[in-house]
Order: sequence, then structure tokens, then C-alpha cells
Amino acid sequence: MNKEIFIKQSVVDSILSYAQMFHPKESILLLTGKTGRKKMEINDLQIPPLATHGHSFSGFPLSRLPIDFSVIGVAHSHPSGVLRPSTTDLNHFYGKIMMITGYPYQSKKNIVLLDRKGNKLEYSIF
Ligand SMILES: [Zn+2]
Repeated sequence: MNKEIFIKQSVVDSILSYAQMFHPKESILLLTGKTGRKKMEINDLQIPPLATHGHSFSGFPLSRLPIDFSVIGVAHSHPSGVLRPSTTDLNHFYGKIMMITGYPYQSKKNIVLLDRKGNKLEYSIF
């Protein structure tokens, strides 16, 4: 991806605490914000409708999602702590980016940002 990615500090904090709250189950949140030609900015979160929290990326029925162009991607947690996408994750890719946060959900070190192919993306926190 040739865009610079910026994620708001409060979004990072919310994702980490949400993941802690649902542990040992997996949590899922939608990342919202705006994308420009050179820049992508994630500044808010949405709880997906009909979210289910299980041990797999069972997630939510994507076809039931409202068409909302502010949704840039999906963040979910890996209670195992593994910071790699599973095959299922990549097959269920929604939006432009995927964020995975792994146990113990303490800091940026426990977060990876990925593109559709599973490549790691750099980002800045603002
Ligand atoms: Zn996953």
C-alpha cells in the first residue's frame, strides 16, 4: 500500500481494552475513518451489528453490514497471542486493512496491521 496510515491513539487504546474485556474470546471491531490519495486515517471504531464472539473468526454476517464507506477495515483479537493472520482471516478480509491484536493486548507491540495479502503495514499513531 502506498498510503501513509495514521491511527488515533484513542482507537488503539479502545481496541486493546476491548480485547482484554473479551479475552479468552475473540473480539471484533470495525475500523472507521477516511482515506485520501496519499493518506489513510483511522479515527473511530464501530461495534459490528450482530457480532458474535467465539474462538474462531466466526465474526458477523458481512452481507448484513450497512453500506458504510467510512469502514476501512476490521480489527480482531487473537487470544493465542499469535500476531499472524490465519487462512480464515485472509479469506474473510473486509475493507482495505486488517488489524490483529494479540494477548496480552498491552501496547502497540501486541498489534499488527495487514493488507489484503497478509503483508505487514507500517503506521503512525496520532
Ligand atoms: Zn484471526
